[in-house]
Amino acid sequence: MIPPDHPRYRSLMTRERLARCAKKGIVTLEGLTAHGRGEAFDYLIGERTTGSALLAEQTAAAFLLAAHQPVISVNGNTAALAAPEIADLQRASGALVEVNLFHRTEKRMRSIEQLLRDAGVDVLSGEAEQLLLLSHDRAWCRRNGIFSADVVLVPLEDGDRCEALVRMGKTVVVIDLNPLSRTARTATLTIVDELTRALPNITRACVDLSLTERDGLLASFDNNYLLKDAIREMTARLSHVLD
Ligand code: ATP
Ligand code: MG
Repeated sequence: MIPPDHPRYRSLMTRERLARCAKKGIVTLEGLTAHGRGEAFDYLIGERTTGSALLAEQTAAAFLLAAHQPVISVNGNTAALAAPEIADLQRASGALVEVNLFHRTEKRMRSIEQLLRDAGVDVLSGEAEQLLLLSHDRAWCRRNGIFSADVVLVPLEDGDRCEALVRMGKTVVVIDLNPLSRTARTATLTIVDELTRALPNITRACVDLSLTERDGLLASFDNNYLLKDAIREMTARLSHVLD
């Protein structure tokens, strides 16, 4: 029997939740494969928040607090895995929450928005338009949401869209366990940590950071260091795992 506080127990519960959400159409088949990639990288990083990931999470909080219009962009996997954590982060940061899907249908949009509302999220509503320079469904967003945001937190983002948002001059903060993905390497700030570990750490930092700490984090952040340190942690673990 695996104890409930063990990372493996949590990961089994997570798989069950994703499978249930896939049956309801909230998570897509592509979303399930993306989760598998994430799990593989989570093994490599030791299923824990590293020191540099925590630093990235505190820096993410600093960016959200200093923003004029912060937006959290939510997809199917994020809603299925972390709707209550998104509600907590919204309360702590004052960010808007907008649903944005790679595989977009009105029915999926409605069921994901409802799942978030049931968890206490204030979801941005209103007409979406094709405003981003992308050829697929991810071009859709709201003029008063992601389109006019200065800081966007996009957990589990796709590389193309991350690049489009950066090209629009936005500060793009991503959560991605794969430090080699195009998303991880294109974003302004990359948090290499598991979504449900990362979000509460960002929320806690939103509550705890003083103004001086916030300014210090923004002045000293270095995404290249954060990515290199994540790769160093994975390499060190691979080298010593059987010792
Ligand atoms: P890219 O388009 O950035 O090159 P990709 O095509 O491999 O990457 P996407 O499906 O676009 O992947 O994005 C999903 C990313 O999210 C993957 O890199 C995956 O490792 C990561 N991921 C999946 N589940 C989680 C999770 N629970 N926490 C953190 N990261 C995750
Ligand atoms: Mg991709």
